[in-house]
Amino acid sequence: MKSYFPETPRFIMRLFSKYTWRFNSDKKEIFLTFDDGPTPKITQFVLAELKKYNAKATFFCIGKNIQNHPEIFKDIISDGHSIGNHTQNHLKGWQTNNATYIENTLTCEHVISKEFKNLKLKTQNLKIFRPPYGKIKKAQAKELLKRGYKIIMWSVLSADFDTTISNEKCLNNVLKNTKAGSIIVFHDSVKAAERMQYALPKVLKHFSDKGFVFKSI
Ligand SMILES: [Zn+2]
Repeated sequence: MKSYFPETPRFIMRLFSKYTWRFNSDKKEIFLTFDDGPTPKITQFVLAELKKYNAKATFFCIGKNIQNHPEIFKDIISDGHSIGNHTQNHLKGWQTNNATYIENTLTCEHVISKEFKNLKLKTQNLKIFRPPYGKIKKAQAKELLKRGYKIIMWSVLSADFDTTISNEKCLNNVLKNTKAGSIIVFHDSVKAAERMQYALPKVLKHFSDKGFVFKSI
């Protein structure tokens, strides 16, 4: 049995109502998100596909990957996408003590601000955070909310990280469950690349043809 839901159930959204799971949207808007980058070649693939549809998205970056690939990070920003915090080292909240978790998240925040300065760009005010694996303790979330972060979860999981599913299954997870205001998770990571690179162009085409626009958070 899979340990995740392609579509986040309502009861989970209600149980954790302080987190953002989707946007209430009357407009035909979809919010694509990409976790775990920047990753050479794979992030550039995503950027090129998004550009074809004039789509904007949100990238929840790992601090360490930003430090390793600042030039790709710059490309994401230059293309007009939003940046979110995904911790410095992709920590699992449930298995990490609170002080370490917050410190690691603030390290990522620092790395993001520093890169913005290096690029001579105004520091992004957007304080958005996505917990790696979607796993965060209540106390950790409370502390981040107190520090002005919005915790962005998702309503649609492509499950591109799941190496046991087919490319078509990954695509269908998105096509079947996406509606106006959905927040969709993909990964610009090596592990997810095969399924993501199959599904993303088709998702962009499918929903663009139906008159949807893709927006960043
Ligand atoms: Zn992640």
